[in-house]
Amino acid sequence: MTNNAKPEPRPGILDISPYVPGKSALEGAAPVIRLASNETPLGPSPKALAAFARARALARYPDGQASALREAIARRYGLNPARIVCGAGSDDLLSLLAQAYLGPGDEAIHTEHGFLMYRINILANGATPVAAPESDNRADVDAILARVSARTKMVFLANPNNPTGTYLPAGEVRRLRGALPSRCLLVLDAAYAEYVRHDDYEPGLELVAATDNTVMTRTFSKIHGLAALRIGWCTAPDAICDVLNRIRGPFNLTAPAIAAGAAALEDAAHMQKAFAHNEQWLAWLTEKIEGLGLAVTPSAANFVLIHFPDHKGLRAADADAALTAERILLRRVEKYGFPDALRMTVGTAEENRQTLGVLKAFMASGGASS
Ligand SMILES: *Cc1c(COP(=O)(O)O)cnc(C)c1O
Repeated sequence: MTNNAKPEPRPGILDISPYVPGKSALEGAAPVIRLASNETPLGPSPKALAAFARARALARYPDGQASALREAIARRYGLNPARIVCGAGSDDLLSLLAQAYLGPGDEAIHTEHGFLMYRINILANGATPVAAPESDNRADVDAILARVSARTKMVFLANPNNPTGTYLPAGEVRRLRGALPSRCLLVLDAAYAEYVRHDDYEPGLELVAATDNTVMTRTFSKIHGLAALRIGWCTAPDAICDVLNRIRGPFNLTAPAIAAGAAALEDAAHMQKAFAHNEQWLAWLTEKIEGLGLAVTPSAANFVLIHFPDHKGLRAADADAALTAERILLRRVEKYGFPDALRMTVGTAEENRQTLGVLKAFMASGGASS
């Protein structure tokens, strides 16, 4: 009798290339400028840090409903707490949504340069990812609609998107929802919503309230500066919240995360400071980097996508090497379909100036890597 069959993962899983996070460390003790993961240069609210430090009952299981956090979110956004589900980062919720609504034979659409976790979550559940082309590095509603088939169960849209930083105005998102089949779940990933300063932008709260097939996810990893604690949330129709609550981990948020997240939301002044810092330096970086002769995709978020003219021998990989030699870490984005670009997070004033200085020297050198 032969008995050498091995455990096999479900189809699709071995097609996944593991997500590679932005670099965050270098050899040696000298300081590193970390602009590869869209973290805030201002750090978390002092109120969130204080709440984290007070959460010391570590022998006790956390509140499995994360009630204090859901109530704080509900107050801040005028929502019913019953329509809020929290997760260990919004990654947790994106994964649960895919697990609940996708399976073999289903298709799910993401955009050409969309956040890589969508594709991973689709494949992990045996479904087929379908990439919709973008125009000018921006999601294209007609291109998404053109890829809808009888099997399409879900559309993932990051708004604004990472790594492009571009966004769709509310009217376009509504047009998309209106034209998608009602069986098709629209997932609006609004991880950077707090940074957007355009009047025609909406994260999706109204659309979620007005339809029974739209979900909006949010995170505490970006403007709130709590990426290490892994806190995300979504608002969704009752039936979808019910589904997520059946399959999520019963204690998927830690007690320190619940406490710190709730406190962060109460600190409107800290959020305003982070927004104002970003507004100022996003404009500064865009202008100065374009002044070096590099193209920058117009960003609504807290990072810029910088395009290097490969045909002139100015390669993104060499720029990355020159920056890394100065202990500055940006994000390579070839896996997002941008072999000739780097993504830079808005940093502190000093970090932004230093990075610009290295880019300037790189351009002046004609692109030689140091
Ligand atoms: C950073 C980011 C998130 C947030 O992920 P968390 O799991 O909440 O840390 C989600 N979506 C996009 C597009 C992001 O860039």
